[in-house]
Amino acid sequence: RAKAAGGNRFELADPDSDARAITRHGLTNRLPTALERGEFFIEYQPLVRLGDGSVRGAEALVRWCHPVHGVLGPDQFIPLAESTGLIVPLGHWVLQQAAWQARDWQFPRSDGHPLRINVNLSPAQLGHPGLVPETLAVIKDAGLEPTALCLEVTESAFIGADEELMRPLREFAELGMAIALDDFGTGYSNLASLRRLPITTLKLDRSFTRGMQQQPADPVDVKIVEIVVDLAHTLGLSVTVEGVETGTQAEHLRALGCDTAQGWYYARPGPPERLHSLSLVDTTT
Ligand code: C2E
Ligand code: MG
Ligand code: MG
Ligand code: MG
Repeated sequence: RAKAAGGNRFELADPDSDARAITRHGLTNRLPTALERGEFFIEYQPLVRLGDGSVRGAEALVRWCHPVHGVLGPDQFIPLAESTGLIVPLGHWVLQQAAWQARDWQFPRSDGHPLRINVNLSPAQLGHPGLVPETLAVIKDAGLEPTALCLEVTESAFIGADEELMRPLREFAELGMAIALDDFGTGYSNLASLRRLPITTLKLDRSFTRGMQQQPADPVDVKIVEIVVDLAHTLGLSVTVEGVETGTQAEHLRALGCDTAQGWYYARPGPPERLHSLSLVDTTT
């Protein structure tokens, strides 16, 4: 059940009720043509370096502006897009939009770091044979370096996965793209396999950062974050934390050595201009 009010109306939706919503609203009929009708749009949410609060990039999050049901969050239509195969053209469109946006954010910032844009990849896209050439074409057309993008893949993509699924990621990583393991801690628990995955970042799921909202922080959650940070840094990976909603949380996570944070405390997902108006993007040359 989606909450009706606020910018976070989809956050509490659980997958079962999402599936029911899809059936109830007859989204199935409209989804295949939604792309050509131009009904999708992207919101961006900043990724902030915990050490100094500087913005390092933003995650692209797709939304569907449905003519009858209003703005729908990805949890309400990505599963459907995956089961119908639309995820491949939709994912390509998201990547294209994000690449042009990244291009826009490439101009020199006073700290000398261009912004990096994170794009979510679903497992179905990893199995699409055209993924690597099509992605590289988008990057090239936008005039970007591969390092300007980070691909986010969830742990579940690797459950029982063979080497085939990992090959595209390995190619991307070799070209200098960042690869993040999204929602880390919620699925695949084979820690040893982290060594084999071509990833650069662990994105710790927000269920682990909730315990940092209180003062003092929940000792079990603190321990978990400590272990993850230690493991990630040992493997040469950076740690991004999701769902940072309060300053207390941000401070705990910074003290625990997490590298990057994302959450409502900094900014909710919004139109790309929002990053400018929040002064998160340095538009002075
Ligand atoms: P995700 O990649 O883990 O993205 C983070 C989700 O957490 C986003 O939900 C974001 O709005 C939400 N979030 C951010 N900060 C906070 C916070 O402080 N508190 C809380 N409670 N939530 C926060 P959203 O936008 O509804 O996206 C849901 C999921 O849909 C994403 O999870 C991602 O897995 C998927 N998704 C989004 N865009 C795409 C896309 O273009 N392609 C694919 N394949 N999946 C996408
Ligand atoms: Mg993500
Ligand atoms: Mg995530
Ligand atoms: Mg998540």
